[in-house]
Amino acid sequence: MVAYADFHRRSIEDRDAFWSEQAKLVEWETQPQQICDYSNPPFAKWFVGGKTNLCHNAVDRHLKDRADQAALIFVSTETNQEHTYSFRDLHAEVQRMAAILKDLGVTKGDRVLIYMPMIAEAAFAMLACARLGAIHSVVFGGFASHSLATRIEDASPKVIISADAGSRGGKGVPYKPLLDEAIKLSAHKPANVIMVDRKLAAFTPVAGRDVDYATERAKHMDTVVPCEWVESTHPSYTLYTSGTTGKPKGVQRDTGGYTVALASSIPHIYQGKPGGTFFCTSDIGWVVGHSYIIYGPLIGGMATIMYEGLPIRPDGGIWWSLVEKYKVNVMFSAPTAIRVLKKQDPALLTKYDLSSLQALFLAGEPLDEPTAKWISEGLNGKAIIDNYWQTETGWPILTICNGVEKAPSKFGSPGKAVYGYNVKLVDDQTGEELTGANQKGVLTIEGPLPPGNLQTIWGDDKRFVSTYWNTVPNKLVYSTFDWAVRDEDGYFFILGRTDDVINVAGHRLGTREIEESISSHPNIAEVAVVGVADQLKGQVAMAFAIAKDTSGLTDDAARKVLEAEVMKVVDSQLGAVARPSRVIFVTSLPKTRSGKLLRRAIQAVCEKRDPGDLTTIDDPTALQQIKDQIV
Ligand code: ATP
Ligand code: MG
Repeated sequence: MVAYADFHRRSIEDRDAFWSEQAKLVEWETQPQQICDYSNPPFAKWFVGGKTNLCHNAVDRHLKDRADQAALIFVSTETNQEHTYSFRDLHAEVQRMAAILKDLGVTKGDRVLIYMPMIAEAAFAMLACARLGAIHSVVFGGFASHSLATRIEDASPKVIISADAGSRGGKGVPYKPLLDEAIKLSAHKPANVIMVDRKLAAFTPVAGRDVDYATERAKHMDTVVPCEWVESTHPSYTLYTSGTTGKPKGVQRDTGGYTVALASSIPHIYQGKPGGTFFCTSDIGWVVGHSYIIYGPLIGGMATIMYEGLPIRPDGGIWWSLVEKYKVNVMFSAPTAIRVLKKQDPALLTKYDLSSLQALFLAGEPLDEPTAKWISEGLNGKAIIDNYWQTETGWPILTICNGVEKAPSKFGSPGKAVYGYNVKLVDDQTGEELTGANQKGVLTIEGPLPPGNLQTIWGDDKRFVSTYWNTVPNKLVYSTFDWAVRDEDGYFFILGRTDDVINVAGHRLGTREIEESISSHPNIAEVAVVGVADQLKGQVAMAFAIAKDTSGLTDDAARKVLEAEVMKVVDSQLGAVARPSRVIFVTSLPKTRSGKLLRRAIQAVCEKRDPGDLTTIDDPTALQQIKDQIV
């Protein structure tokens, strides 16, 4: 084994040699002529001159060694379906979907928008686009008409692929009316819509526009559609950031760099092996779903589980039963999902044979210590590995690369900089690099961004530069907009987003730090802190907390007692200046479907403003509770 520090150093200092080795994990039709062209910073071009195809690397290349091995395992506890597609089956299905798209005139560079639930056809759709060199844009099925319309307008797709309905908790959630409404709202109109009819919600097709997937598929059972070899820099897809903050941005990814990054991450980060099974519980609407439900595992020759359903239905053991049944080696989820499981019987964690499982990776939000401990103990000490990354990067920025060199995890830290990432902490006011231990700064990445990261914002190079590269004074560096510190061992700790900083009487405080302090009170399960405008102090912190044991909180007096205790904790840990003006007890917090706290919406409600677009909110009553208590 190589020492990780050397591996990382080489990826930065001997960049081209390092990545030309990683590029060997991918099959190229034409070998790259130049590894990295960074002559026009901050725009990086990876594997210039190379020609490849994402679908070829995910599917076709495996036919010679593992045609009959499982590739896509579709499990729906919503419709009680379960079906395993081998690489051979997947190859056939992808060609059928590609043939339908081709019939509708889709060629290289055309956009195809995918608005689908977690069904196998969604995977066929993504892979079929990649096969043709068409650029897919998957929009999360939980988005409603308005959000969908802005994405249709921005991506201007020739074709949209959708379905009659998704399903949640056993109830059909119609997609078609939302899609029709979105197309009406959008100035851009797609020429055609391919409808997968699951028979969950009746609909009337739009004549001349909508085509039925099953009918078209039947015409193409044996149609051969070869992979279109595209330049390494050809865009493979766009994906809009989840929009926790501000207007969504169309993150544009290349083909060659992305394929290499994922191919390399499977052994080095996830320790996945060809023939193994990967189970990522995310959704294809998110970046984690793109990279680790669809492309990453398949490129690595692994079977991937695509799961439609809740983590607690029929009961909280469903995921672990799948680990046993399909001998899952690598599992990937989010802290929010683990918090949901935490409310279930812990015995469900040990009911199944989990001996195949090597590690559980968690990403998307800070992994708090109690949650990490609970799941680690519940799974009998299996490795729990935090991953820190962004839609923009496509694969982890910070984690522990156990596939390079085994290293311990530290609670509360996602780990060290991943190879390829030249991570620097900088002072947000001066741009000066902070090299000392435990100095707090903005987490930035020095260009060129490694393979797999965004090339630009779709159709808006200027916005790419101004949004990400021009925010640190005196320096052209990529800003993650997250605060972090690094300890003496090189482990990073994420302290929250730079826009979650509040300013109390001239003191700048991270809401995340206040949240962590409050969470250390033994009776606090979860908390959100936001800054609220205040005439006197500029801003004050307000906390919304969920108590673990609510039995004593029956009246205002009891709540006041706990509130005072919480304030005392903050006083003693961070100082009185960080003390929230109020601690309000609620039973749930407003979050997106991907588990991110909607701090902006909470803040808006506290300041009696319009909370904005709430189509991704998981539980609207959570925001209502806050509204009701703000007087
Ligand atoms: P938008 O950029 O539109 O506001 P978003 O940032 O919520 O949306 P994502 O790209 O999905 O969309 O989220 C990335 C962010 O999530 C990171 O910048 C960080 O703030 C947070 N995050 C992700 N993983 C972790 C982690 N392991 N620990 C702490 N924070 C994390
Ligand atoms: Mg972001």
